[in-house]
Amino acid sequence: MKYIPLEKTDTGRGGYQQKVKEANIKRIFDLVRFGKCKSRAEIVRNMDLSATSVSVLVEELAGRGLVAEVGPTQTSLPGRRPISLRLNSEAHQIVVFALSRHGVRYTLLNLDCEVLESRTAALETDGMTGEEAAAAFIRLFDQLLKRRSRLYDPRRALVIGISVPGLYLNSCGLFYNRTALGVSLPEGPFVEYQRRVGLPLYMLNDTRCMAYAEKRFLDAADPEAPEVENLIYMNINKSLSCAVITRGDLYAGPFNIAGQIGHTTIDFNGRPCHCGSRGCLARYVNRDAILEDAQQAAAAAGVQPPESLEALAQRCADEPALRDALRSSARMLAAGLYSAMCGTGLRRIVITGVECLGEAFLEMVREALLERSLLVRTLDLSYAQAGPDAQALGLAQHYLDKVFTVTG
Ligand SMILES: [Zn+2]
Repeated sequence: MKYIPLEKTDTGRGGYQQKVKEANIKRIFDLVRFGKCKSRAEIVRNMDLSATSVSVLVEELAGRGLVAEVGPTQTSLPGRRPISLRLNSEAHQIVVFALSRHGVRYTLLNLDCEVLESRTAALETDGMTGEEAAAAFIRLFDQLLKRRSRLYDPRRALVIGISVPGLYLNSCGLFYNRTALGVSLPEGPFVEYQRRVGLPLYMLNDTRCMAYAEKRFLDAADPEAPEVENLIYMNINKSLSCAVITRGDLYAGPFNIAGQIGHTTIDFNGRPCHCGSRGCLARYVNRDAILEDAQQAAAAAGVQPPESLEALAQRCADEPALRDALRSSARMLAAGLYSAMCGTGLRRIVITGVECLGEAFLEMVREALLERSLLVRTLDLSYAQAGPDAQALGLAQHYLDKVFTVTG
C-alpha cells in the first residue's frame, strides 16, 4: 500500500547498477510519454547515454509493451530513416475511485491518462463506524468494476488509485476524514482489499490530486515555459483544504500533514475547529460560511439575503452590503494566505470551489494581500483550470510520474 510518499525512501532493493538502469529507462519512458522524443536519436540527444545503451533500453520498453515502434518518422535528413516511438497508451489501465460524502466516483484511464469511462455510485456514510464505511466503500469498488464498468480489463490494470478527502495519519493508522465523510477510515480493510485484488493501492488526498493535476495542466498549457515547480492550491468547499507543491512534487512533510493552510489561525479567540484549535481559516472561509456571513450582512442591512453563492456574486455589483460581506470573506482568506505565503515563500496560488464568485472575488483577495507588505508583491492568483476530472487525472499522473517504476 502506498500513500503520498512521506519521504523518498530508499528500499535498498537492487544494486547500484539496477538503480541507474531504472532511472534511465524511466527517463526514456517519460520522454516518449510526454511527446518530447519521438525517436532513438532524439533520446540520445536528450540524455547522457550512448546510442547502443538507448537502443537496449528502448527494446526493453517495447518488450514490456510500454512503447510502440511505428514506421519511419518523417525526416528530410539523408541516411537511414529512424523508427518513430510512441507511448502504447493501451498497455495498461489505471483505476481511480474518488471518495466523497455522496459516494464514489469511478474513473478508468489509459497509460496516457486519458479518461476511458467514469461512473458514480451513491453511498451515505453518516452514522456508520469507520470499519462499516470502509467495508461499504470496498463493496462499491467491487460492484463498479465487476458490474458497471464496460472497459475495465483486470489483466491490464496497473494500479488502483483512491482519492480520499482527509489525511492519512501515520501515528493512528487511519485516514482522518471526519470533516469530509463524517467518519475516519481505518487502513486495515484497504490493505486487505489490496491483497485480494492483487494490485497496488495508491491512496492520495483529494486536494493533493487536484493540485497535481493543476500543475500538470499548467505545464502542458505552455510547454515552452519552465515547469511549474511551486504552487499553493486551495480547495474551498464544505471546508477549506489545501495542498502545496514544491520542486515540482507534492509536499507532505515528515508527518504527511504539511500544507494544511486551512488551519492557519486568523483569530486566536475565534470559532472552535475540529482540529482542536480556534479561529482556523477553514472555519471562516468555506462555501457555507461565505454564504452565511453574506446572509447575515443582508439581514442586518434590511435587504433580501442571497440564496446561493451564485446569487451573492450576481448581486454584489449593485448592493454595497453584499459587496462588503464578500470583501470581508476575501480579507479573511487573504489573512490566512499571507501567513502561508510568508511561511512557505510560495507566490503562485490556485483556488478552486468558488469559481462562481468570479474575478471580482479574486481581485478582492489580491487587493487585501498586496496592501500587506513587500513580502507578497510577486503574486500569481488564479482559479483552477484542470477541469472536472482533476482528481482522477492528478492521481494517475502522480502515480506514473513519481511512483511507477518500469523494472519493478
Ligand atoms: Zn483547525
